[in-house]
Amino acid sequence: LEEALRQSQKMEALGQLTGGVAHDFNNLLTAALANLHLLARHLPADGQRFLAGARTALERAEKLTRQLLSFSRQDAVNPTVVDLGDSLRRMADLLERSVRADVVLEWDIAPEPMAVAVDQVQLEMAVLNLVLNARDAMPGGGRIRIAAAPIGTGPIAAALSPQPRTVRIEVSDSGAGMPPDVMARAFDPFFTTKGVGKGTGLGLSMVYGFARQSGGSATIDSRPGEGTHVCIDLPLTDARPEEPAPLPAAPVADIR
Ligand code: ADP
Repeated sequence: LEEALRQSQKMEALGQLTGGVAHDFNNLLTAALANLHLLARHLPADGQRFLAGARTALERAEKLTRQLLSFSRQDAVNPTVVDLGDSLRRMADLLERSVRADVVLEWDIAPEPMAVAVDQVQLEMAVLNLVLNARDAMPGGGRIRIAAAPIGTGPIAAALSPQPRTVRIEVSDSGAGMPPDVMARAFDPFFTTKGVGKGTGLGLSMVYGFARQSGGSATIDSRPGEGTHVCIDLPLTDARPEEPAPLPAAPVADIR
């Protein structure tokens, strides 16, 4: 428990710091990109490729600051009541497109209603981050299982509260797994083993932030050579789900 407290205090402090910096930084990047856009009209053709290089770098910086903002929860959080099963099923196409052909997605979504109060965009980002991590952990292909079901329906829990109060989203893979020292730091912001320019180390801290902000929790279990399970536990709500907002028509780009 002490470790959990230490972790959440660290995340809180880092979140505030990075959020403040990222917010200002994002405004500067937007201004720089807008000016490059104007410059492009006045530049001769042989100067365009330099401009393209600068734009690519700035766009990557913009993606990074967007991730920082969502990790630090300083972007607009807009919780609505959604049915978790519906939300996950709606992501099937996006997730299929995010993995290679040698990666098989297995779905195991409980059929009952599972109403949760979450930011829909953050939920989608969290699940996408988990699936992208799972994909990255199996360069030779493998299986990713995406499951969601109510938990806490054992005999004691059922006697105390007849309705399950928590729902668990689980993303499991048959990939490389993590040694204990990596697992211990995996939720830390900026911790990555993927190398400069590849990983940001913000995927799992975003997942952690999303779970906490939604009144839930996130946990990892992993063993080298056996694969990884990440669970997001969220409180169920009695409120009725709203109609979900439509997904963007264009494919959502790999966000790292
Ligand atoms: P990033 O993916 O940018 O490195 P994350 O915060 O998402 O940042 O992950 C941190 C680190 O945790 C990764 O670099 C990797 O070492 C490890 N990791 C995360 N997910 C998995 C997974 N499914 N299997 C093995 N290792 C993982």
